[in-house]
Amino acid sequence: MRYRLIFAIRFDERKWKREAYRKNREEIYRDLITRFPSEGAKIEDWRIEFPNGTPRLADALKDVCEAEGYEPDIGTFVHYSAKEIREAGFVRLMASSGPIDRDADHRCLNSYRVLICDTCGRRDQSLVPNPYYVDKKIMRRYEDLYYASNGVMILSVRAFESLREKIEPWVDFGQVVIKSEGKVVKGEVDYVWIRPKFEVGPFIDARVIKRCRKCKQPTEVRRWRLDDVFLQNMEVVESFKGRQELIVRAGTWCGEVKPERSCSLLEEIFVSGALHEYIRKLKLKGFCKADHVIHSLEEPQIAALYARFMNEKNSGYKRTTKKLRLVRTICFWSELVENIGDFLQAKLYLPLRRTWRKNFPSKLDKVRGTHILLPFADEDTEASCPVSIKEILEYLDYEAPGGKFAGGVTTIDFELKFLRMAVVKNTKYWIWSFLDENDTECYVTVLLGPDGKPCIGYSETLGLTPEQSIMAAYWRRT
Ligand SMILES: [Zn+2]
Repeated sequence: MRYRLIFAIRFDERKWKREAYRKNREEIYRDLITRFPSEGAKIEDWRIEFPNGTPRLADALKDVCEAEGYEPDIGTFVHYSAKEIREAGFVRLMASSGPIDRDADHRCLNSYRVLICDTCGRRDQSLVPNPYYVDKKIMRRYEDLYYASNGVMILSVRAFESLREKIEPWVDFGQVVIKSEGKVVKGEVDYVWIRPKFEVGPFIDARVIKRCRKCKQPTEVRRWRLDDVFLQNMEVVESFKGRQELIVRAGTWCGEVKPERSCSLLEEIFVSGALHEYIRKLKLKGFCKADHVIHSLEEPQIAALYARFMNEKNSGYKRTTKKLRLVRTICFWSELVENIGDFLQAKLYLPLRRTWRKNFPSKLDKVRGTHILLPFADEDTEASCPVSIKEILEYLDYEAPGGKFAGGVTTIDFELKFLRMAVVKNTKYWIWSFLDENDTECYVTVLLGPDGKPCIGYSETLGLTPEQSIMAAYWRRT
């Protein structure tokens, strides 16, 4: 296991002009690389990449920044070798599609028989409905394995038979029936559902958001990124509970229990590294190779990391604090976007774009509570914008209150203040702020998508930072 550590200094507009920042940054980076010689460390534009990061290096970098008054940005990516995956106690069993046990409107196709609590609507998930219904439309093409809810996975009969000998003692299983628009249909192949009998866990970053007032059981559980450079990209459970089985459930479900939606909770399945390797060689359709090892706090190295995190004075999250820290940090390092996508994909097992979007809050106040970092690109100037200031002002004259052709009584001259430029995947953004006729703060944004056609947009800031506004615009568009 190795951590690739990315270090950058944040732009502080109280301290620096943008050109000075870029120049200073380069000098600081050169200085840091000589101070912390690490094999293969290299400066790349706005960041330094250390191929072998350690907590000690991260702490030392933070100390230097604190002493010299810079604000550091540190992120890591954890990499495992193929051997480490093969020899792991547990890794995820991942499918590329699903969950397929809901229809296109996300309605559950299965109802669990045993109601445990009539207030929160919790049902006994260990009694999997048999037969188990799946939706033909959601299945789309033929695959050998799919996700389902509540710790269930759907395997083709061919896949199940290849694995049966290895997993049968550790799973419940039964028959799958395919439905299309409410009617039972015949699929190309037959399927079986499986659900591991035993669980490990829970994840150390799982949080109970709500509990039922009657039965006191959790009714909403989510996973948060821990505010720790190293732990936030790792998958760590509290305990493996001595489980030696080849296949288990994660022991943490995510989602919300609702009386009308009994089957919408997601719980992952872990398999041993050896079984993962065996499955990989079966070349099942829809199987995704695991790229993360599941750790537990029983490993001394991981326990030490966790203790360091919990002891840190300024740690954003303390286990004992009642109030949950709901501010999540989403880092968009544009050059590394695919990797972050991988990380999120691993965590939420949905295709990149959808996951990202799902993680991005849809409500405005949630967007405000999401800290977004976008790296500065080299062409971070007004001059690099494909639309001239004159054209932007012309546009605002039609669109913004106070514009000459906007139809209002009074007209004003808008004063644009260039804020920044940002690259998000294949789209470039230039953003300015200005005050409209009513002195309301607004943003005007030029975006340049892959089609090469620039587009201007304007809106009130609504209390969003330029970065939040850009990401909100990005998701509205894609
Ligand atoms: Zn309840």
